[in-house]
Amino acid sequence: MALLLCGGWRLDQPEGRAEQQRWLAALEQALPGEEWILQSPADGAAAGRIDVAVVANPPPGSLQGLPALGLIQSLWAGVDRLLLDGTVPQEPPLCRMVDPAMNEAMVQTALWATLALHRGFFQCQRQQREALWRQPPQLRAAEWQVLVLGQGELGGRVGRALAGLGYAVTGWSRRPRPSEALQGRQGLHGADGLAQGLAAADTVINLLPLTDETRGFLDARRLAAFKRGASLINLARGAHLDEAALLAALDSGQVGHAVLDVFQQEPLPAPHPFWRHERVTVLPHTAAQTDPRSAAEVVAANVRAWRRGAPLLHRVERSQGY
Ligand code: NDP
Repeated sequence: MALLLCGGWRLDQPEGRAEQQRWLAALEQALPGEEWILQSPADGAAAGRIDVAVVANPPPGSLQGLPALGLIQSLWAGVDRLLLDGTVPQEPPLCRMVDPAMNEAMVQTALWATLALHRGFFQCQRQQREALWRQPPQLRAAEWQVLVLGQGELGGRVGRALAGLGYAVTGWSRRPRPSEALQGRQGLHGADGLAQGLAAADTVINLLPLTDETRGFLDARRLAAFKRGASLINLARGAHLDEAALLAALDSGQVGHAVLDVFQQEPLPAPHPFWRHERVTVLPHTAAQTDPRSAAEVVAANVRAWRRGAPLLHRVERSQGY
């Protein structure tokens, strides 16, 4: 049997080809002796040998005509684009990436942004442009309420790390969490829980997956439910956020500052007002990247599990969208 490695890399450009080769090298090391087919099989015989597709936002149609395909393994944590692609076969299990290196990076980004917001360091940056010497108030971490939307692999880790620094952390998820899983954090769910969490938080961190239920989640109504002047950190997907509503909320003072890693359109177009807004911090979708070295080990574990009929890691519940 053979494995297909297929991604949305710009293969007409040297960076795209280098990225594909970086993945191939890591995967060959983690799964020695396998046949790898890149992007698409050359003929019907090659297509018939493919039992596993390892994908990174593959071009639509890439997974059609593979009669032996039994497992689709995403190299990315979010599978929203794959689930929207009507050409992706529905029968094979779909697994997403949970990469230790990416988890670590996401925690670092969330800690940095929360610390900077809590301690007023973004304000100091603005003041520097005007040579303004003014010390922001210094609150204890326990006096700073953080609401983490999503309590999965990433949201759970971010919440635990912030709680470890003493922040008052609340996590919001779709289903109630048993108290032992919360480890000192407050757990909320449902619409009432959300209203309670948004009204209390000084900083809201979005780590929800993008699904039918969460698309456009951070809209004008939800931003209006924030505590006045609270900050937003969006580390999940641009389509969660109504960007015009955020700009209005920033300009009215309803939202104090936004740290944004993801956008409706990426790269963020040069004329976009976020680039020049003094209370927006723009990151170029760099909060947490998958590291081929550690991610290849996760792929290898799943390929081996699938071939011996063992349970798969991080299987997506397609009906739920994550
Ligand atoms: P998980 O699937 O592990 O966790 C998802 C969490 O969201 C769960 O707690 C789930 O609740 C909750 N959730 C899902 N739907 C709803 C809903 N409708 N209402 C309330 N809660 C909901 O995902 P990860 O933590 O691994 O990743 C989250 C997202 O982060 C990814 O989908 C991706 O979009 C984004 N991401 C961004 C990166 C970046 O660089 N900016 C890098 C990697 C990921 P429950 O626990 O009840 O199921």
